[in-house]
Amino acid sequence: MRDVAKVFDRTGSTLGVMDDLQVALHTYDGCSRGCAGCVVDKHFKNNWRFRNIMTGPDMRIVGERVKEYFHWIQENLNTKSDGYFGTNGYKVDHYSYTFRFGNHSELPQDMLEEIAESCPSDFRVFSTAPSDEIHKFVDLRRTHPGNYFLEIIYDPVADRAQDIRDMVLDMRSNGILGYPEVLITQRLLQAYSPERFVEEALGPLGDIGTQLQLGRYTPSKTRGFRTTQVVSVDEEVRWMTAVAKGIVDRKYDIHPIPIGEYAVTFLDEYKEAGYEGPDGYIDVARLPEPEPFNIANVVKKTRDIFLSSIYVDHNLDLHVWSESMGQHVLDRNFGFEPLGNVRNRPIHEIVTEPNGVLERMLREVVRNLATHPKCSGCRYKSFCASHAIPLFRKWQEDDGEHCYGYLPVIREFQKDRPFLTNMIDGFKELGF
Ligand code: SF4
Repeated sequence: MRDVAKVFDRTGSTLGVMDDLQVALHTYDGCSRGCAGCVVDKHFKNNWRFRNIMTGPDMRIVGERVKEYFHWIQENLNTKSDGYFGTNGYKVDHYSYTFRFGNHSELPQDMLEEIAESCPSDFRVFSTAPSDEIHKFVDLRRTHPGNYFLEIIYDPVADRAQDIRDMVLDMRSNGILGYPEVLITQRLLQAYSPERFVEEALGPLGDIGTQLQLGRYTPSKTRGFRTTQVVSVDEEVRWMTAVAKGIVDRKYDIHPIPIGEYAVTFLDEYKEAGYEGPDGYIDVARLPEPEPFNIANVVKKTRDIFLSSIYVDHNLDLHVWSESMGQHVLDRNFGFEPLGNVRNRPIHEIVTEPNGVLERMLREVVRNLATHPKCSGCRYKSFCASHAIPLFRKWQEDDGEHCYGYLPVIREFQKDRPFLTNMIDGFKELGF
């Protein structure tokens, strides 16, 4: 493979870089809405409104465990010489909490205070429905300083794009960042052609430099593993490819994650720059032979990614959190057993258990990629390993034309370097 310089200057940008221990916590599931494909737990949604799911003492246990684990990571991951993190790779510089899954904006102030108090961090992300109660987070930031972000669950069938725009701008003017997250469901696709989605659902957001998270709907236990909202991978890839084209053609100032991020990774880390054809698309036929699939290296790197993205549920059970299309926490709701429970054991002991759940998941991911008819000869196996792609196949096979690599969508974004450069710059302000 050619030794080429990287295409993008990503100094100061976290796009396509893991440098954070990300901890998702199951703090709240209340919400008055009924979005198709919602992931909140029905029991808590109906019976636990306006109060935290976790008790204060339990959240404090998590807070202590995470501090202890972050220390362990700095001592053990940042100092080794191989893998994703280490002396020759990236470093874990901080830790963040993502408080999920309900509408945290509707929690009373003292509940939000309890969360922030128990789980200290420089970076806090809260899930929320569209809301005009930003002031609660502004107050929270005063009592517990740090960087605050809101993930706004945006359902274009129910919400007005203009309201989302107003909310993002209102947040910004108060020092709080955040972005809308759209779940791709059958209901969305039936309501919106790609063209209409780009025009009406994204148009009003198209000049404010916001991230836009697109997420895949996955059946969960609390919804009886119902598949009515599932969009096939082929349908999803076709729809998203047309959406990507629309975003780029209109030169929207929007940063679509995760796929725009993948476009940068493929140009830089997979050295695809320089292989564009006359139409601007990467000429796949000209790409050189893929680098050998070094299983030992892929396992080390993927393990590092799993170790730095974790989820603790309301029972203090620990799970892996996969950051792919949809940022799924791999918990019982999605058919995965916990790695262990943090009430009585340190996190590092649970995740490093020989032949423990994490190791078995890791082996399953690598074995699947090495033997899968689509993946075994594919150049992107190491990339798909770190995103735990094979685990998504438990819910739905990608056995049609396309795969969970979303390559046609990536190709659309790769065509426009200024668009990707703008996205990289947009990640500079995030700081993590
Ligand atoms: S999921 Fe697709 S892109 Fe990923 S390794 Fe398999 S064939 Fe390649």
